[in-house]
Amino acid sequence: MTTTTRASYEDVVTRYEPVIGLETHVELGTNTKMFCACPTEFGAEPNTQVCPVCLGLPGSLPVVNRAAIESAIRIGLALNCSIAAWCRFARKNYFYPDMPKDFQISQYDEPLCVDGYLDVEVEGQTVRVAIERVHLEEDTGKTLHIGGATGRIHGATESLVDYNRAGIPLVEIVTRPVTGTGALAPDVARAYVTELRDVLRSLNVSDVRMEQGSMRCDVNTSLNPPGAEWGTRTETKNVNSLRSVERAVRSEMLRQASVLDAGGTITQETRHFQEDTGDTRSGRSKETATDYRYFPDPDLVPLAPDPTWVEELRAGLPEAPRVHRRRLQEQWGVSDHDMQSIVNAGAVELIEATVAEGASADTARKWWLGELARRANESGADLAAVGVTPAQVAELQRLVDEGKLTDKLARTVLEGVVAGEGSPTEIVAARGLEVVSDTGALTAAVDEAIAANPDVAQKVRDGKVAAAGALVGAVMKATRGQADAKTVRELVLSRLGA
Ligand SMILES: [Zn+2]
Repeated sequence: MTTTTRASYEDVVTRYEPVIGLETHVELGTNTKMFCACPTEFGAEPNTQVCPVCLGLPGSLPVVNRAAIESAIRIGLALNCSIAAWCRFARKNYFYPDMPKDFQISQYDEPLCVDGYLDVEVEGQTVRVAIERVHLEEDTGKTLHIGGATGRIHGATESLVDYNRAGIPLVEIVTRPVTGTGALAPDVARAYVTELRDVLRSLNVSDVRMEQGSMRCDVNTSLNPPGAEWGTRTETKNVNSLRSVERAVRSEMLRQASVLDAGGTITQETRHFQEDTGDTRSGRSKETATDYRYFPDPDLVPLAPDPTWVEELRAGLPEAPRVHRRRLQEQWGVSDHDMQSIVNAGAVELIEATVAEGASADTARKWWLGELARRANESGADLAAVGVTPAQVAELQRLVDEGKLTDKLARTVLEGVVAGEGSPTEIVAARGLEVVSDTGALTAAVDEAIAANPDVAQKVRDGKVAAAGALVGAVMKATRGQADAKTVRELVLSRLGA
């Protein structure tokens, strides 16, 4: 293999135009599976949530889960799709050990929802991503390879299969090719998946946890010289974080450019995203639809959703996340730039909940984007998982507003909350952190500081007000930081007649 020098990203996007496409699988949060009554709870003992239908035993017959159809229609409507008046399930035939029937029930040429779109914001521009289809299918089981170093089948001594996930309802959301994004292609991919996740969350149809696999993305990427036909695409499978979606597109663009620059051709194949290096690695060569020998599933009746029902579902849709964010931005009085920071930090819902608990938007934003974002960054956790609830943040701010805590003390209290010591009020009481607001005690401390620093005191008396800082510092030290610095300063100046 020859070593080629990779062109920089900036250089690549001047010579090639990327085309991307995203296929997103979402596990629906129904209580039971797609075609049987088995429970869907995550994390159960292997092969305890199975029955003849989801194990594909001979003679068993599937029955469609109405709740899954309802969720899929609501997703289609939220993505501005048309809902088919009539459609069917199809069998997608292939052999894989985690799929006990040797076919997957899916939808092929007759999907439930078609021709929608989702608008996303990238660097102040709105990009409309066209949705080709939203269809229903069933998930496969999970294989576990044991004995190898990597957890992959290569080098493994045995493989185990868990069918608990087999038959869990999946919705697949497929975009049309997204063109014209240029250098922003990776950002558009990420923004689309982020927006889609927010839409699904607002519909309450899935827990959309990418790290648990309840939402996963296949990312298609190709490059072509400006004005030329689209290039051959690759499909990077099962990308499972927002950041990885962005990285997968970017690294595929760089890899494909280096192949094309060297006069090579791109092979149509599936690739795997490597979390550690941020690169993609070749998988199997891509099957075409004819390889799957799709045909309508003879065991299932066609779906013909009642138009009245569809209209009821449309009327019951929640406010779109984009509209919701715009309304919050207005209420909070923040700039586009600040709102973008809030969105990027994943703090919209947290600030909203903190405001609902009585804090002002300004203070809620200050806590979540300041101290708490810093802690989340340090521990590599999501802001929502930092260990403090919106109610606790609102309570902490209330103590500051009532003059019982300074900002500095409040940060100490916050440490206690993160450490699980209780509510802010409980921690203030237990650790004795309340601000010293007893004027008598403060005046005594001020007088002590003046007596101990006669030279400084004289300077202040002579009009050098800036020198008062040393006395304020001495009082703060004496009160272990539990006095309000502004009050102390006022007291110092008034005792010295300055
Ligand atoms: Zn079952």
